[in-house]
Amino acid sequence: RNGFLKESFILSVDVGTSSIRSHVYDREANIRGTCSTKVVLLYPEVGHVEMEPDMLWRGFISVVKGAVQDAGVHMRQISALGISTLRGTFTTWDRRTSVPFHNFISWQDQRAAELVKSWNTSCVMKLVYSLTRQKRSLAASLIVFSTQHVTFRLVWALTHSKQARQAIEEGNCCFGTIDTWLIYKLTKGQVHATDYSNASSTGLFDTYQVCVVCSSSVFVRRSLWMADQQAAMFGECCFDVGDVKITMGTGTFMDINTGNEPHTSLAGLYPLVGWKIGSEVVYLAEGNAADTGTAVKWAQELDLFTDVGETSAMAASVSDSDGVCFVPSFSGLQAPLNDPKACASLMGLKPSTTKRHLVRAILESLSFRNKQLYDIMLRETSIPITKIRVDGGVSSNDFVMQLTADLFGRKVARPQHHDMSCLGAAFVAGLVVGFWRNQEELKKLQCTDRVFLPKEGASPPSRDYLQVLQTWEGALRRSMNWYN
Ligand code: ADP
Repeated sequence: RNGFLKESFILSVDVGTSSIRSHVYDREANIRGTCSTKVVLLYPEVGHVEMEPDMLWRGFISVVKGAVQDAGVHMRQISALGISTLRGTFTTWDRRTSVPFHNFISWQDQRAAELVKSWNTSCVMKLVYSLTRQKRSLAASLIVFSTQHVTFRLVWALTHSKQARQAIEEGNCCFGTIDTWLIYKLTKGQVHATDYSNASSTGLFDTYQVCVVCSSSVFVRRSLWMADQQAAMFGECCFDVGDVKITMGTGTFMDINTGNEPHTSLAGLYPLVGWKIGSEVVYLAEGNAADTGTAVKWAQELDLFTDVGETSAMAASVSDSDGVCFVPSFSGLQAPLNDPKACASLMGLKPSTTKRHLVRAILESLSFRNKQLYDIMLRETSIPITKIRVDGGVSSNDFVMQLTADLFGRKVARPQHHDMSCLGAAFVAGLVVGFWRNQEELKKLQCTDRVFLPKEGASPPSRDYLQVLQTWEGALRRSMNWYN
């Protein structure tokens, strides 16, 4: 018992879209204590998705206390705290009172879709597109605007909040993503900061210049802050150029390590700062699909099944989807089609279609979106892909993972650890305080649950799926530009 009390640990928190989770890790990266709480999402209007700032703060504090208690350790035994937060979700507040002017506006929120579309189809952008087509070198600096970035939602918020505009005039308006808000609360208003990984996910930060004032990895009161996808990439030990991770949670986020150079693509891969440790900055290029877990959850609410754990076997119990195509686009389509006005749809329904066919069509669509993102990654980065790791709730679905491996024609590895963002933030915090020595040591702590090998002879895409993929792409095109 005395020995145990001398042991030290790393505590980690992941503030996610659907929950806030905390784990206490020992030196072997085993979880010794855990606590989680649900995040309440508010939908005040169609397309609006919000979170209450106070709910996040209270949830954060309660899971930190809960995990320490669950592990049966003292707070003084915690060497450092690693915190990963969901990205592109922001609020503004009054510097004098710390009272927010509005709720957090979530990355899934579509209120700025019109504005984004008008910018992406504007004459200025058309000119830039034509220039980049003529001069490939310029393509490296073109970014397709997205509702997931803070920029246009912030324009919306400032246009609609008279109080915030007035506070700006008076120099009293604070802006912050979730990390910034929690750091501000934690330090009782003394620190107003963000880190590179979170900043680079907002659309307000020049990833190419990396020149705003923000600390490399914000280290406040033994806590280290970073963005969730970058943390997951680190947790997957994707330290080398060409390493890819696919996180399939509420949405899908596919990231490739591009080394010491940022990379942008015409098809909508976004350049991010992965992490900065010491003087080394590692960049990622990211493609994403906003509706992954949300599609599964929706199907569950329709009573297509009771438990998500049943879905893989349900889909595998039929030989195809009966020609049904599902377009997972509750929040528009992201790369490579980049259409915030696309709708979700189910096409090709027949009297013979059963629940099992529908489940198969939904799960197939998630793998198809993976395939689209993988293809643009191959095409537009020209970086040879070294390994592919998957994580997130939906990655526990064997059907989705096997189909993904078949379509890629590559093996796909799923780790044992589920909360990759938590583990990644713990890893970075642990490295900073010397709890772990180096990345090689971290690689040895990694455990793989299952490796999905592509079907024998399935040169990508799997031959059986060529026709299905083409039909599905047709459904995708028909769902585009629906909300005009
Ligand atoms: P986030 O971190 O974005 O909050 P998670 O990584 O926790 O999300 O994933 C949660 C999602 O995973 C939920 O939408 C849930 O329906 C889905 N999910 C969990 N297990 C399975 C499964 N076996 N098959 C399909 N979806 C699953």
